[in-house]
Formats: sequence, structure tokens, C-alpha cells
Amino acid sequence: MFENLSERLSGVFDRLTKQGALSEDDVKTALREVRVALLEADVSLPVARDFVKAVQEKATGQAVTKSVTPGQQVVKIVHDELKHVLQGDNEEPGELKIDNPPAPILMVGLQGSGKTTTTGKLAKRLTDKNGKRVLMASLDIYRPAAMQQLAVLGQQIGVDTLPIVPGETAVQIAKRAKQQATLGGYDVYMLDTAGRLQIDEVLMKEVEDVRDAVNPRETLLVVDGLTGQVAVEVAEEFDGKIGISGVVLTRMDGDGRGGAALSMRAVTGKPIKFVGLGEKMDALETFEPDRIAGRILG
Ligand code: GDP
Repeated sequence: MFENLSERLSGVFDRLTKQGALSEDDVKTALREVRVALLEADVSLPVARDFVKAVQEKATGQAVTKSVTPGQQVVKIVHDELKHVLQGDNEEPGELKIDNPPAPILMVGLQGSGKTTTTGKLAKRLTDKNGKRVLMASLDIYRPAAMQQLAVLGQQIGVDTLPIVPGETAVQIAKRAKQQATLGGYDVYMLDTAGRLQIDEVLMKEVEDVRDAVNPRETLLVVDGLTGQVAVEVAEEFDGKIGISGVVLTRMDGDGRGGAALSMRAVTGKPIKFVGLGEKMDALETFEPDRIAGRILG
């Protein structure tokens, strides 16, 4: 998921750790290379700049350059800073607020981002790992095929879907899902909203109306991790208009450069809760900043 970045950074840090003594200039040179590597991974410029500045401040003190293993100290500082940029002052990774049944989870995002697939993956996870009873409903009134797709997924993973009733509005479907979830004793109901190829007013208004109708406990934005900084821009827009509680980054199994993962929290203030790592229904992982930082540093 971060192969290129990881390779670049390990080149820089290998050199640094092999050097016995380190001057402040050595650290500065290494950090310049770190900055270039981050930008090449499609991390947004202000995030890369702040990151390097924070590391520099911590790494140029006497304690580091005069220590016995200065290179390793710098690597440790970079690790901690990576963790910080990925996590912010985050609570538990991947935790969803799904107490008080039935808890509505609103799934939003552009068409093709992996929203329906992720709805299925998450429903399966909540069922298998958390022992929750989940109901899924597709609100995509524009694409009957999308409604069908969710129904088929539901059968595959053994999760109930709301029966399809043609002619309803998205809000009507959402209200019916809520009613069925309440009557049927479900813990969670997931609303898979319609996506568009790009953000438009009609889409946003519809999602806002659904949000107001069910008052979701979680509003998860699904974005394509391969799109790098664009993914972060999409998240800012959705958050500004709808208010999101977290992000799921999909296609992190692809050879994307990973920048979206690194910029998301710092730019939007919203946590990445899960990453999608393939098309299969179990290809979903919780986003754990500590482990990811370790993975980036190899
Ligand atoms: P939606 O239009 O946002 O609902 O997108 P879909 O859920 O239909 O997904 C679009 C395509 O992306 C499908 O072929 C999915 O199998 C694929 N997809 C979704 N998530 C992932 C992922 O994490 N990794 C990979 N490689 N493919 C994914």
C-alpha cells in the first residue's frame, strides 16, 4: 500500500543510520529528501511541510545529534510524527458508534468509489466480528442495477436487505429502512446512498435530506485511495456539506502512492476508519495509525 514511499524512505534512513555521528546539516539534508518523497507520494504540500518542520524541530536538538545512535533516534521521531499525522488526537481506530439500536450508518461517496462493496464488507464485519444484526438498504433510485447489486451482496454474505419497492424517493426508502430496523430488532441499518460521477447540488441535497430524516450515528465517506489528493478534496467537500464522521479509503491494495492516507486526517480533521484492500467481502481492515506508520517505515 505504501511500497514506493516506503522504499524511498528506507533509502534515506539506511544512509542516516549507517553514519555514526550526525550533524544538524545531515539531518536537514535527509529531511529534504523525506519531503520530496512525501510529495511524490501525493501528500499535500502543507502536510508535507508541517511534517518535516515538526520532525526537524525534534531531531536537531543536542539529545539526538549527540546520542550514540542518532540515525535511529531520527527514525523514531519520524515514526512518531507519522503516527501523529495519521491519527491526530484520535480515539480508538475503527470504532463505530453503534450503540442504541437501531443505529443508522449513512454511506456516502462518488459513484465507483466502492461504496456498495464497502457497505457489504462493513455489514459482514459487523455481523461476523461484532455479532450485530444488520439491515442494508440501497437508496440509489437512479440505478436499479445498484439496488440489485446490494441485494445480491446481501445474499452472498448472509445479511438482510430492505425489499426493493420501485417508485420511492431516497428519503422514503430511508424511513422504511428505519421502520423495518426498529420493528425487526436490528442493531444497525446501513443506507447506501446514490453516488454521482462528480459532486453536484442534487446529490448533496438528497443526501442532506436523508441525513435529516434518520440522524445517522455514523456518516462514512467512501473514497478511492488511488486518487490521492483528489480523495482529500472530495472528503473536504462532503464534510463541508453533509458532515462526515469518518472515511473509508478503498483500493489501497492498488499501486497508489498512499498520499491520501497521509493527508486525510491533517487536512479534513476526520479519521480514516477503514481501508479497502480488494474486491472480496473480507478485504477490509481497520485503519491503525501505529501499524501503518510501521509499514511505511518498512
Ligand atoms: P460504488 O459505485 O461506489 O457503489 O462502487 P462499487 O462498490 O460498485 O465498486 C466499484 C468497483 O470497485 C467494483 O468492481 C469493486 O469490486 C471495486 N472495489 C471496491 N472496493 C475495492 C478495493 O478496496 N480494492 C479493489 N481492488 N477494488 C475495489
